[in-house]
Amino acid sequence: MKKNRVLIYLAELAHDGFGLSLNTVPLGIGCVGAYSRKIYGNEIELHLFRQIEDLMSALSDRPPHIVGFGYFTWNDNLTLAASARARELSPDSLIVLGGLNISFEGWENSDNHLNSVDSRKKKLCAQCARDYDFTLLRNHPEVDVIVHGDGEVPFTNVVRTFMDSRDRLEVRGKQIGGCSALLEGQLITGKPVTPLLDLDVIPSPYLMGLFSEFLVRFQLVPQIETVRGCPYDCTYCTIGGNTNRIRKHSLNRIKEEILYLKDNSPSRILRIADANWGILKKDVALAEFIRDLHDTSGYPSSLRVYYAEKGPFENVRKMADKLKTLLPLNMSFQTLTKKVLNNVKRKNMPITKVREMVKFAHNKGISVSTELISGLPGETYQSFRNVFLELVKLNFDSVYVQSLYLIKGSELYTDIARKLYRYNTMYSLIGKDVTKVDSRYVFEADEVVVESNTMSREDFWELHKFTLFIYLCYGSAFLKEIVMHCMNYDITPLDIYDELSKAPERYPFLNEMFGNYMTSIRTKYFSTRQELERAIIDSIEKDGNVDEFSIHRQLFYYLGRLLSSQYKDLVISDFGNAAHSIYDKNESQNDTREFHCIVDVLSNLASDIIIPPLEEIEEELVRQFRYDLVAWARDDYTKPLSEYPLEEPMDFSLCVRNINEHRDLYAMAKGRNAPEKCEFYFATVVSSNMRRFIKYAGR
Ligand code: SF4
Repeated sequence: MKKNRVLIYLAELAHDGFGLSLNTVPLGIGCVGAYSRKIYGNEIELHLFRQIEDLMSALSDRPPHIVGFGYFTWNDNLTLAASARARELSPDSLIVLGGLNISFEGWENSDNHLNSVDSRKKKLCAQCARDYDFTLLRNHPEVDVIVHGDGEVPFTNVVRTFMDSRDRLEVRGKQIGGCSALLEGQLITGKPVTPLLDLDVIPSPYLMGLFSEFLVRFQLVPQIETVRGCPYDCTYCTIGGNTNRIRKHSLNRIKEEILYLKDNSPSRILRIADANWGILKKDVALAEFIRDLHDTSGYPSSLRVYYAEKGPFENVRKMADKLKTLLPLNMSFQTLTKKVLNNVKRKNMPITKVREMVKFAHNKGISVSTELISGLPGETYQSFRNVFLELVKLNFDSVYVQSLYLIKGSELYTDIARKLYRYNTMYSLIGKDVTKVDSRYVFEADEVVVESNTMSREDFWELHKFTLFIYLCYGSAFLKEIVMHCMNYDITPLDIYDELSKAPERYPFLNEMFGNYMTSIRTKYFSTRQELERAIIDSIEKDGNVDEFSIHRQLFYYLGRLLSSQYKDLVISDFGNAAHSIYDKNESQNDTREFHCIVDVLSNLASDIIIPPLEEIEEELVRQFRYDLVAWARDDYTKPLSEYPLEEPMDFSLCVRNINEHRDLYAMAKGRNAPEKCEFYFATVVSSNMRRFIKYAGR
């Protein structure tokens, strides 16, 4: 190393005790590193780390001047354990923490600044931020400096300050722009820094080669950002509201990165990390570029991104049309219950606009998806069920559900919010996020809301069962045609769920599966972190792994089994029988034969339409039907299928939207056990590609 160069290690650690917990490139430390290198050139030497063992070896072999950690929910305890160990191995290194686990608003409450903050930003979490910063630094004296908000400028300020004295304790005593430190019990906070509005001033970490090793060695999924920031303020989230301004990259810069990844990334999936893709006009041109690239080179084989949920709708429409085989048109709602939306300071698009977007998508052959969060403040079990029913009526094709968990730094995490909504929480292990550091097992847990002033503990468990039901019917419109047929006879999926639950002896297969699932899920929540820790240690000592802890894995494992070739017909049979039974109980029905006959036809269709996860499949199946299924769907299923008879049975084609995605994943999943395969499948495949779409054969 050139004499006097500042040696910097940047680490965004992923747990790796039982496989690498994160499969994406750590973009944050890449951007901070690239910007630092641009500012300081040869004055610094830079190394990036994903695994704690690599970092600890480097700390022992060549103690750096500065260690910067990317500090997030998913590596909270691992980062703190690593920074404590870093202090032991390298006593003179300056240790810096930045990321979403550090308050964005640390500077806002400092001195007189609070008075100048616009009222919109006076959030509960902003009021607690300074206490939180103080507590973090007091409890972790090995940490010298914390960085608030976007890391690039504050971190380079830290580097400059360090260069002046080369003494970490002296750095602690300086007011550094965008940073805080603790010296002799006093929190010292620098002035806020102006965010970088033109993100192109940050060189691409990909083009600089900072991720070359990660891409190949860990086969990480590359992620890029085209903008930063979100103008909204949802209280369960830490991304939104921190700055009103959207900061962006130019189209040329993004294209350069994608072309680099086409040639250099072993993973063919591309993730765009924007919170609202489509919010800017240039996003339309980017969608066109990706489509052309996919058509001419096959890259990316699939795409992960969320469209801007509140528009501009014209942009989103154009993009969705371009990317229809790669992505569904996603409109994130989290809930539709008005009171709940108010409670979480969220505004969804108007329902008239939702209808218009759904209609547009279906006319273009695009499927439509959304996500919900169960347990939001004010939501009841009943209101959540009604939200699902509303989405069915709105003709959605995919609904994903997640339980509410409290994210450090969000408004709902604060004591004030907890008291207001009378939250009780439990802990569940995130994935397999456990790593042995020295002799101790370090792990990450979600703090999940299991009770509130509107949700009892029993409601919480019932919501888990109902969630599996939602995934089964509507994870990817698996049973949509049967549901829509029933809706035309005033039988809702809620009626079917209740029928299945109330008469277990009549629907033995589904009830046994749901019962086993719930027995398993109840064992995955723990009252305290200490209880969870004891269970993790027991499991490792007894079985040598932590495979049994993940809620998501369990959900996807059951879903994968239910949709497999072995079991899907049993699922469809119980579901159809419940529909038959409800119909028969209604004495006013007079066309009995027709209803039952169509349920049977659509049950056969469902069996063909469901793509069994990670099995070998054909791209197209041709089947004959005596109803015009395409015309029925085109009319939004609003009339009974019996009104679409064909004179002669006709061939229909049941096609996979993106067969290459299935083929790639099938190859990648080899060697994994069944639960791992299912988790991998449902976390990777886009919802629109989990079932076949229907068209007239030969067209
Ligand atoms: S949930 Fe989405 S829209 Fe709301 S603040 Fe977070 S990123 Fe923004």
